[in-house]
Order: sequence, then C-alpha cells, then structure tokens
Amino acid sequence: MWARQIHFDCLDIVQRRLQQTLFLILYEETEMSQSTENLRALWHDYECDENKMVVIPFGPDKIRVAPPTAAAWQALATVLQHHDYEIRTADTDSYNCRNIKGSSEKSLHSFGIALDINWTTNPFKDHEGSRPVRFSDKDTQNERADDVRLGRADTDMPPRMINDILAIKTKNGQQVFEWGGNWQTVKDSMHFEIDVAPDDLDGGIDLATVVGEKADDPSPPPLQV
Ligand SMILES: [Zn+2]
Repeated sequence: MWARQIHFDCLDIVQRRLQQTLFLILYEETEMSQSTENLRALWHDYECDENKMVVIPFGPDKIRVAPPTAAAWQALATVLQHHDYEIRTADTDSYNCRNIKGSSEKSLHSFGIALDINWTTNPFKDHEGSRPVRFSDKDTQNERADDVRLGRADTDMPPRMINDILAIKTKNGQQVFEWGGNWQTVKDSMHFEIDVAPDDLDGGIDLATVVGEKADDPSPPPLQV
C-alpha cells in the first residue's frame, strides 16, 4: 500500500516537472528571437526573387524589400526620424542576393527582410571573444560617428533609439526587429532584420508601439467641388 502510494507520488512529481519543463521550453521559444535558419524557411518564397520585391520610401532613400515588410520599415523610419537620425542614401541598402560573408548560406538580405543603415559609421566588426556593443555617449550623430572612427564606439546610433526600434511590435504582440549590434561574437550595427513570419506582419504593426507615430492623424479635409 505504502509502496503504491509512493509510486503515485513520484509519478505526480515527474509529471509536474515535465509540465514545468515544457512550459519553460515554450516560453523560451516565444521570448527568443528567430534563428536565421527559421527565417530563411519562413521567407523562402522571396529568396533571391527580385521581381517579388517592392520599392518603398525609407526616409530620403528608396529600398527594395519583401512586400509584407513594408509597414515595418515605415515604422523603423518613423523612429529614426523621431530621434533626428539622418539616413544616408549612399551607404544604406536592403535587398541583395548574396551569401553571408565567409559562408555558403544565404544572407537575409537575399529575402528582402534585412536592411543595412549608414554602414560607414556602423561598420561590421569581427572582434575577439564575446562582448556587448559599445555605444557613444555623445549628443549628436556626428560626434558619435567620430567616436566610431576613433575606435571608441561600435555605432553612431544612440541606445534610446535602438530601444525604441526593438520595442516595435506587430498587432499580435511579436517583436518585429533584431539588431546586429546586439550580437555577442560579432558586431553588425548597420544591420536590422525582420524577426517575424509573413503571417505576423499580415496582421499589421501596432502603431501604439511606434515612437513618433501620430496615432490621431486627422483625416484630410474633403475635396471642394
Ligand atoms: Zn546586413
């Protein structure tokens, strides 16, 4: 009798542990960013297919991207403008059918879901070991760019702007962007990628998460005839 009771108690504990573990795995999966491999699968239809891309305005620039991502890049441009961050057309680019440097795998630029912004002042760095990004504490974009040139910072983007970009969510609550500056083993601070599936974006961007977005834009006056 005792033995059976103990046996049932053990089973109960094992079952609860399993449930906890399963919860943690599911929770971690929803909190973690998508792997590049997952994103390639989710956006497979657009791989190196330039005809499927659309050209959209991005600040003063025009960029070529996968159509479901258009509103997301618009939201990103709104946040950059809110922080008075100047986009240079000469060193900003999106769609490009190419492999990741030093790899035979396709870069996410090949799917129209990645954008490099101002790469001269946000250069790719393959550094020793693992470390967080180094921001400049200067007030202006030009001063921060000087810190990058002098090797004192990895990016001319201010941390508050990056926080605001990473806060952008879809209407179904998914974080839209991943930033290459947050990678631990290399720094690719020019690089922003879409971190959700086409289906997530089909539901739209939650404009309440976009700093600088005028939520109550008055509708244009009716035409006089
Ligand atoms: Zn990139």
